[in-house]
Amino acid sequence: MAKTYLEPQNVVPVYDECDVLVVGGGAAGHSAAIAAARAGCKNVILMERYGYCGGDVTGGYVLLIPSCSFHEKVYVRGLQQEWFDRLSKIPGACYGPPDSDIGSHDPELLKKWGACGGTTRIEPARVERGWMLDPTQTKIEMDIMLDELKDRIRVMYHSWGCKPIMEGNTCKGVIFESKEGRKAVLAKVVIDATGDADLCRLSGAPTSNAIDDECRCGSTALVYRIGGYSATKYSQWRATHGEEARAMGQKIRDIHGFMSGLMSGATDTVGWVNNWQPKRDCSKIADQTATEMGTRLKLRQVLDCYRTMCPEVFEDAFIYDIAPQLGTRGSHRIVGEVVIGSNDWAFPKEYDDTIAWHCTVDTLNDNAPIEIPYRAILPQKVDNLLAPGRHISADAVAIDNVNLIPQCVGTGQATGVAAAVAVAEGSTAHTVNVKKVQDILAGEQDVPLPRNEHTDKSYTECLVEHEYGLYTEAAKKARETQDAAGTYRHWSLTGGAGNTDRAKG
Ligand SMILES: Cc1cc2nc3c(=O)[nH]c(=O)nc-3n(C[C@H](O)[C@H](O)[C@H](O)COP(=O)(O)OP(=O)(O)OC[C@H]3O[C@@H](n4cnc5c(N)ncnc54)[C@H](O)[C@@H]3O)c2cc1C
Repeated sequence: MAKTYLEPQNVVPVYDECDVLVVGGGAAGHSAAIAAARAGCKNVILMERYGYCGGDVTGGYVLLIPSCSFHEKVYVRGLQQEWFDRLSKIPGACYGPPDSDIGSHDPELLKKWGACGGTTRIEPARVERGWMLDPTQTKIEMDIMLDELKDRIRVMYHSWGCKPIMEGNTCKGVIFESKEGRKAVLAKVVIDATGDADLCRLSGAPTSNAIDDECRCGSTALVYRIGGYSATKYSQWRATHGEEARAMGQKIRDIHGFMSGLMSGATDTVGWVNNWQPKRDCSKIADQTATEMGTRLKLRQVLDCYRTMCPEVFEDAFIYDIAPQLGTRGSHRIVGEVVIGSNDWAFPKEYDDTIAWHCTVDTLNDNAPIEIPYRAILPQKVDNLLAPGRHISADAVAIDNVNLIPQCVGTGQATGVAAAVAVAEGSTAHTVNVKKVQDILAGEQDVPLPRNEHTDKSYTECLVEHEYGLYTEAAKKARETQDAAGTYRHWSLTGGAGNTDRAKG
């Protein structure tokens, strides 16, 4: 038996009390806190282990927000659209197509927006709402959004939530660690937005860390940025130097030992190197350490490779910076009251409790929006604990496609509203009036939802007109890759079945 140490019993001081406690300030947690406050909750606490919000986005340097529209309609609105609206006003903070270009097949616009993930790869390609952002400006904007609601939201940075306080099956708060020691925050509803189901795992709710080997969620990353080159020039070079570009990619892969790709950022002169370090669990110390050190130890060699193999673009390039935070795609997640699976893309599935209606990055249905039910953020067996973000309930393959930034913002926003409604009405996370939650989301919070009277009918009409994206040639071809078990693969790290051949998240 492994050595153990019996921790002495301890009296934990209560640091604060609130109605809604959000633990984790990433895309999901930040959105949950903002949405709860805007839905009327006056006593929200946002607890975050680091000193800023954004998680993978601002700390992990994940700078691409993809797939927010289908044909000419932007389905992913709400807080995600607000990020775009706010950042678009700040020079250099964000780069992506305006509303007027969405859905266009114009070759010039496709060329213009292709580099920032603002087009589909489906023939005929369309411009879509996708954009690159600057992490520093996003970090600042996220603080501004919280500060605007400071009469309702108290932010606790540098506080690490480590244990749910359970009374039977009901969550009553969280114990956290900080420089002030071990303390507790009591709450009526707790939102676990840690990304790795840190609190749900200890609450008695069922969780799973099963991830298909081919999926991006089973890989970690340490993103770094390269400056002193031109992304436009690099893209032109790749278009005219196919062989050399492939050779350089292979050389870099050999140095690193994993796949990576230099992607453009919000400005032309700084790009981010996304990478996929397979079979690593972002919740394991050894894998976290190997990702951090393994990447950094090879960085100088990689930069030399860019410089020597493509001097016309990278002669003056330098390592701009390294993400302060490990890139965490997936690990533990809840097994909720509904588990999202591949059939959610294969059929136009309808749920009574849909709280987000999101385009994903899947060719199987031509990037058409799918419905995400409230029950996918609702853990089984425990009450007053909700789980939006990258650890929502989805199977070992489907999780790859429902935990990108837009879905994390969308499920976060919905969770915040649900928590506010539960507190206002004295109900619980399980008994909350979901229709009311949907009405607030689709009404004042600008989140289109299917079959909701606050949502313009043109959203459904667009889907029907394009047959839910299921019958395009590209979608049919993608579905032909259905594997023997009858499940669909959405992503592939090695280029196997269903590889969409687009930048993987
Ligand atoms: C390298 C990489 C590339 C990706 N590429 C894309 C892409 O191109 N486009 C896209 O849309 N998505 C992409 N993704 C996925 C996407 O970035 C994430 O799924 C999403 O940002 C997760 O948001 P989240 O809020 O659920 O979790 P996180 O961003 O992980 O946020 C969790 C937050 O909780 C905090 N936290 C964790 N544990 C605790 C605790 N116990 N107590 C207190 N605080 C805690 C963390 O510090 C963090 O701030 C990528 C992910 C990675 C890693």
